[in-house]
Amino acid sequence: MAGRILDWLKRDGAEGAPSEADALARLVAAKDAAEAANEAKTRFLASVAHEIRSPLNAIYGYAQLIERGEGRDALAAAKVIRRSAEHLAHLVEGLLDIAQVEGGAMTLTREAIRFPEFLDQLIAMLDLQAQAKGLALVLERPERLPEFVHADPKRLRQVLINLLANAIKFTDHGSVTLKVDYRNQLATFTVIDTGIGIAPEDASRIFAPFERVGGPAGERPGVGLGLAITQALVHIMGGEILLESAPGEGSRFSVRLMLSQPLSPPSEPAPQAGAVTGYLGRERWVLLIDDEPAHLAVVCGLLEPLGFQVRTARDAASGLALAAQVQPDLVLCDVALGGENGWEVAALLRRRHGAALRIVMLSGEAPHSEGAGTDHDGFIMKPFAFDALIDMIEGQLGVEWVRAAGEPRAAPTQPTAVALPRIIAPVAAAHCAEIERLVRIGHVRAIEAEIDRLAALAPEAAPLAEQMRVSLDSFDLKALSNLAKSVRADAA
Ligand code: ADP
Repeated sequence: MAGRILDWLKRDGAEGAPSEADALARLVAAKDAAEAANEAKTRFLASVAHEIRSPLNAIYGYAQLIERGEGRDALAAAKVIRRSAEHLAHLVEGLLDIAQVEGGAMTLTREAIRFPEFLDQLIAMLDLQAQAKGLALVLERPERLPEFVHADPKRLRQVLINLLANAIKFTDHGSVTLKVDYRNQLATFTVIDTGIGIAPEDASRIFAPFERVGGPAGERPGVGLGLAITQALVHIMGGEILLESAPGEGSRFSVRLMLSQPLSPPSEPAPQAGAVTGYLGRERWVLLIDDEPAHLAVVCGLLEPLGFQVRTARDAASGLALAAQVQPDLVLCDVALGGENGWEVAALLRRRHGAALRIVMLSGEAPHSEGAGTDHDGFIMKPFAFDALIDMIEGQLGVEWVRAAGEPRAAPTQPTAVALPRIIAPVAAAHCAEIERLVRIGHVRAIEAEIDRLAALAPEAAPLAEQMRVSLDSFDLKALSNLAKSVRADAA
């Protein structure tokens, strides 16, 4: 481990050894390198001890105060204890990652990944985090990207998530952009933010473990291992990472990696038996009016692969204008359209387009709640199962579905990934990979949070998430891990 820590903490030493030196010079150089490595290791261990001691002290101190019942607010104390424990857990996670890199135990897989989808999923995973801070998260990519590239998806995702999550964390206003370029097998990922920026004198040390700069500790959470791990991963993948930044002017982290293209597209996994894969007859147009971008993306992702022409609008005015322009067969309209009223939109649509236009309302509230209109043909409660939407479309448009060969699968008694719609399977698999990793380090709170994220993907994921929670509650981590594994296997 010391050798690589030396790389991080002291970028000289062994690399500086002369190539044609005599035996004595080589011995001296080797001794210097060993000493430097030893020093680096000592510094590293001191940092680890320091990082562990502060949260541990907080846990110890607050626990004693609660025990003695010294009139302290037990809830506030418990919060400090929880936060400290979380901090420790992150630390352990990061150290395990580093140990894996150091021990050479980190092996890379080489898979053909669907490049554009991979990027979209990445943005979808971080979008809520950015929205919560009022930041725009933008994916800037050329029109033409290869459909498939070879990469280790888990490690590439980890690198980009680390950089994007940092960009969101250190930006309070403006935007975070992931810019992707691909030329001659060379992929360049640039994460650009409009955040606090980094001073030139700090630019190299932030890649060392535990180095955190730019503001009082505790202001923004973190343990200072993310960039060290990111840089190590990029190097293992044979790439390079560069930083351009100035205080107050945002930061640009660029990662350059050779990602070759497969000579022929990999064979697609056979569609699930009985699953709807398309419909017969003329092309149908669907207009979706919803102010929630994530919801628009999910419904588009479900309907477009089936051959529907889907148009989307985020407010009433553009929805009505689009309806006039494209004359859709079906409108799916959210009831709570930001500040506007979806029922009024339905009434206007009905008046302008008549009964031939099918209107289905989507809402988180019951159909007969106060203020509900009557100008619609169907109603779906949010969140809805994909099958419920399919049934509704069949009922409204009378389409005849094309299904994958084979008998429809009976409802599985053991929820596994095969019960998940294909559109969410890759994202669910990513969550499951994370769950497996967290199981390995026993980070229970993070596992809970990851299961919650999995459950929030779609109603179809709820039974699976529930089963995972049951395993977690009974600390049957092996069963939990097996379940996660089976989801990944099914998504592969
Ligand atoms: P952590 O985020 O846990 O502190 P990292 O290793 O990921 O640890 O980052 C190290 C430090 O680098 C951060 O604490 C921060 O000072 C700085 N940094 C990283 N990314 C950015 C960014 N996008 N903008 C400003 N500072 C950054």
